[in-house]
Amino acid sequence: MTAGDTAGIVVVGASLAGLRGAEALRRNGYAGRLTIVGDEPHRPYDRPPLSKHVLSGELAPDATGLPELVALDAHWRLGHAATALDREARAITLADGTRLAYERLLIATGAQARPWPAASGGRLQNVFTLRSRDDAARLRTALAGAPRRVLIVGAGLIGCEAASCCRDLGLPVTLVDPNPTPLARSLGTWVGGVLVDCLRDAGVTFQAGAQVLRFEGDASGRVVRAQLADGRAVEADLVIVALGATRATDWLADAGLMADSRGVTCDGACRVLRADGTPCPDIYAAGDVARWPNALCGDRLMSVEHWGNAVAQSAQAARNMLAAAEDQQTYRHLPAFWSSQFGINIKAVGANAGADAVAIVQGTRASRRFLAVYGRAGRSVGAVSFDQARWLPAYAEAVAEGRAFPPIEEATDQGTFLAHAPGFPPARATFHPIGVRHG
Ligand SMILES: Cc1cc2nc3c(=O)[nH]c(=O)nc-3n(C[C@H](O)[C@H](O)[C@H](O)COP(=O)(O)OP(=O)(O)OC[C@H]3O[C@@H](n4cnc5c(N)ncnc54)[C@H](O)[C@@H]3O)c2cc1C
Repeated sequence: MTAGDTAGIVVVGASLAGLRGAEALRRNGYAGRLTIVGDEPHRPYDRPPLSKHVLSGELAPDATGLPELVALDAHWRLGHAATALDREARAITLADGTRLAYERLLIATGAQARPWPAASGGRLQNVFTLRSRDDAARLRTALAGAPRRVLIVGAGLIGCEAASCCRDLGLPVTLVDPNPTPLARSLGTWVGGVLVDCLRDAGVTFQAGAQVLRFEGDASGRVVRAQLADGRAVEADLVIVALGATRATDWLADAGLMADSRGVTCDGACRVLRADGTPCPDIYAAGDVARWPNALCGDRLMSVEHWGNAVAQSAQAARNMLAAAEDQQTYRHLPAFWSSQFGINIKAVGANAGADAVAIVQGTRASRRFLAVYGRAGRSVGAVSFDQARWLPAYAEAVAEGRAFPPIEEATDQGTFLAHAPGFPPARATFHPIGVRHG
């Protein structure tokens, strides 16, 4: 593409992947017209602090802006959702009816918080989800109003981080999850058990193996309790629904692409696939919304909802958008995330789900400072550190190369490796509130 192209490149989604993708286009020499469309009114901001420093009140919601690392010279269309994509005409439609032509398109619309169904109390006052800066601002204000008891539904990363912040604020908290431990899907229950101890020590009431059926409100429409499937009730005047996210693909419903609530399916080079499975040469996707065959995980189709992937995948997509068809590079990514909760810095790499063994290679579970490696069929597939990240890069390399499990024997401080069953919950234990669609 050249500077003479009138329509130029359009990026839909003005957050981490959209911004870093746009920067990579400029960095790789693209000098043409660049338009960035976002449905939020804000310039790109960072989401990880929202469930940490913003909820705790240490950081103002509007202090989360992402730095622009390159002069973008972009046309920003903020506060305008894209509502449709016409591939034949190479144009997108915005909510106000405007049509925007493109030569190439980068889809970076991310994901949205899975809502609680309205019919089961999802519209009651003081029932919150947490995805955007505005969500965080509203929730922070409500927490500052000193609720009598906070109920958090879902003990994934955001649910646990929110529980940790609420306890730091001195608020009574009940955390409900259908699994026996927090983070059971990503870390398994053997490692997740450490977090059960953290919850107990922090004073969180953890209702494991429990499922919320509905929320009930008072005469003014404000939430007062949740009814559980086992007949118990949890009194709460503030609820945080933390049930993960669905990919923001509704606007692509009639575009003839492989796109649904699991994401926009791409080939290995981040080119979006048409419904017949062939790649569109002019449409790419990156970040939480993208689903692609990850060569580092056995070409398994996956979407990765973590910060590092949004940065790396958008950079790769941008390079490929400017390259000739024969020069498309495959995007390979080792999934990784971090989290801070209950004073512990957790870092993880790899794809642990489906692992059949886990072993501590540094530290101890009892001290809550350790590094554990996950294995599947004799290969290392993931690693997690609790306040023990020093060796994580070495294990990340071993995981990326699929080395034997357990790897790097000389790097351990353990006498012998004791492999345990990781305890990943069966699929049916996933939290499915009635009436909600799932990816
Ligand atoms: C509270 C929270 C805490 C997190 N903490 C961590 C962490 O500790 N570590 C970690 O690795 N990751 C964390 N993440 C995940 C990380 O923030 C995401 O992986 C990252 O934001 C993905 O970037 P993205 O640009 O792909 O998608 P998003 O950040 O979801 O951005 C997509 C943007 O597109 C917009 N959009 C959607 N549809 C349309 C449309 N039709 N038209 C126009 N615009 C549209 C959205 O409103 C949004 O602004 C956290 C996420 C959240 C929500």
